[in-house]
Amino acid sequence: MITILFGPPGCGKGTQAAIISERFSLPHVSTGEMLRDEVAAGSDLGEEVAPIMKDGGLIPDNVMVRVIERRLAQPDAAGGVLLDGFPRTVPQAEELDDMLERSGREIGVVLFFDVPEAELQKRIAHRAEIDHRADDTPEAFVKRMREYEAKTAPVVDYYQERGTRVEYVNGNAPIAAVTDSILTIYGDQSPRGEVA
Ligand code: AMP
Repeated sequence: MITILFGPPGCGKGTQAAIISERFSLPHVSTGEMLRDEVAAGSDLGEEVAPIMKDGGLIPDNVMVRVIERRLAQPDAAGGVLLDGFPRTVPQAEELDDMLERSGREIGVVLFFDVPEAELQKRIAHRAEIDHRADDTPEAFVKRMREYEAKTAPVVDYYQERGTRVEYVNGNAPIAAVTDSILTIYGDQSPRGEVA
């Protein structure tokens, strides 16, 4: 099944995706990581997206849809994936639905990480000291939050209206406790498995 990890910058979705990925041997597909790899490699795509990312903006939908379509077509994605950072706009969510329908796949669950903004800000400031991500500056954080509220948050309503399963995760808790709540949401259903 496809799991979507969804939430504002710094909510912990990348951390949890890595843990769940390891535990169930499922690909962790992080569009942010894929783009950072392109930037590091100095590819055409990397050059195109680097200034937008640094500023905290969103990459155009058509670019992102191309990136994710290519990734989901790879053989390791056939048994399900953890999608971290995609979709980030309603048009991306619509394109993803079309893409999955064409390949006979479905979204099993959308995990919506809930974390207060003051805590997000603290986490990003902390991550800035460790990771040196170009977009972990206070200015880029403000822009990323604004983009999240304006363009990404509506994606949850889109899924709820379509009857896709959306589950809230209290992300304002220790890492292991957040993992436990995700495992409880899966219940006895494996994130690798078919949707019941
Ligand atoms: P992340 O690692 O998920 O925080 O993503 C880092 C940055 O990559 C974002 O702030 C955007 O600039 C870009 N990005 C990643 N995924 C997407 C997406 N689905 N749509 C648009 N931009 C994205």
